Amino acid sequence: MNSIAPFLALLLLISSCGRLSAQTITPLYVNFFTHNEERDYCTGRTSDIYCYFPPTLPASQPCGYQDQTVFLKLRGVLKELADTVRAGGAKWNWESDWVFLAGVRSFDKGDAATGGKNIVRWIAENNNGAIEIDAHAHESTYNYADVAYMLDSLGGKPSKVVGGFTWNFTQGNNTYTWMDFDNGIKGWKYPSFTWKPDILWGAAGYNRRRGQTDHAYDVETPGIWQPKDTSETGFKSHDPSKRLILLGNGYGKANDSSKTAEQIAGEIIAFADSLRQGTKPPTGRLYSYSIDLHQKFWACPGYVARTARVIELLKPYVQQGRIVWATNTEKVTAWKAQYQSQPNLYPFAQNIVSGIRSEKIAEGMLGLAIAPNPASDQAVAYFNLARPERVSLKLYNVLGQEVALLLDAELEAGEHAIPLPLGHCPSSIVFVRISSAAFSITKSIQVLR
Ligand SMILES: [Zn+2]
Repeated sequence: MNSIAPFLALLLLISSCGRLSAQTITPLYVNFFTHNEERDYCTGRTSDIYCYFPPTLPASQPCGYQDQTVFLKLRGVLKELADTVRAGGAKWNWESDWVFLAGVRSFDKGDAATGGKNIVRWIAENNNGAIEIDAHAHESTYNYADVAYMLDSLGGKPSKVVGGFTWNFTQGNNTYTWMDFDNGIKGWKYPSFTWKPDILWGAAGYNRRRGQTDHAYDVETPGIWQPKDTSETGFKSHDPSKRLILLGNGYGKANDSSKTAEQIAGEIIAFADSLRQGTKPPTGRLYSYSIDLHQKFWACPGYVARTARVIELLKPYVQQGRIVWATNTEKVTAWKAQYQSQPNLYPFAQNIVSGIRSEKIAEGMLGLAIAPNPASDQAVAYFNLARPERVSLKLYNVLGQEVALLLDAELEAGEHAIPLPLGHCPSSIVFVRISSAAFSITKSIQVLR
């Protein structure tokens, strides 16, 4: 990690802005991440590649990365995104599953743009450390060790980061839990290969009642600690005798084509601002956020340009040392070196900024939290959907008049964060109402000028 840049940024800030002292700055460590999904293989004739494939594929359509045209299309965007991230001084954890790597093996002989290297080797060797490569596995037919082996054999220098895992159950269809990563796991396809990771990232939840992974049970946190075990309380407890480190991914930021760059950056900035306020969350600890460069939208128009714009919008915060771009491994290195490995059990089920709880609500209910509150220019509405629903979000003034319609859309299940632009509101109370066919909830926010 480049540890000099944040230091210089601090000096700059102290000299140019006497109001803040060095101690008041707790930076937010940010990276992009991407999974390419096993679903891109399109078993059952469905694919997660939007804007290129229809969601359900006709039988005549070639499938995922088994098809050279599809593979090369996504490889092209991968190269463009890598160039954008590197040029913008950002960081990216590219977390690959086996399906894309099988495509690399079959079709990627390298080209002039990658100096004749396959894209995996090119990412590892030609990006100045801007991109870290992690294994990602759904563990149906290839497990984590297999994917790490494939990355290694393609020249990808895989990290020791587990790119997504189930925190409260066994891994995938199988019989081991994340705790078994501690001793290392053997490949299924490549049983002579053992993989022993250090960092757990992306704690997905398992819903025992439904018998499947359920993102409503994800442990989303910007914190970092050494989890004790796979139980509800154990996972959310720090045990310094454990070797594996849980690195938080924040609260579900995604460049998913439904948002503008301003909205994506705004969510990150809202958290960085909350750290400056210094009460909640507590300062002086390591905070980690990751922005999802969701591969299923890569083929959609404007994807790379929007990513570049997010980097641009965060730049002033980076220059002030309030946001630090860092890969997952760099974040953990900073945690050990600059934060003395002090655990940060910053909440999963508690709002980040002003102490309003953003609960993981029981199925069928919604949690709505507005933060920061009070706010001046921008706040964020956080809520959780138990199932996909059409949701509207409106602002009302104290007379009950609608002043803005901010959202009216079909949303996926899980946590959502919708920026609330308040720049045009006078000092007053503004009401935020979120509703669907199933519910309607109103909360107030105080706007201060
Ligand atoms: Zn996945």
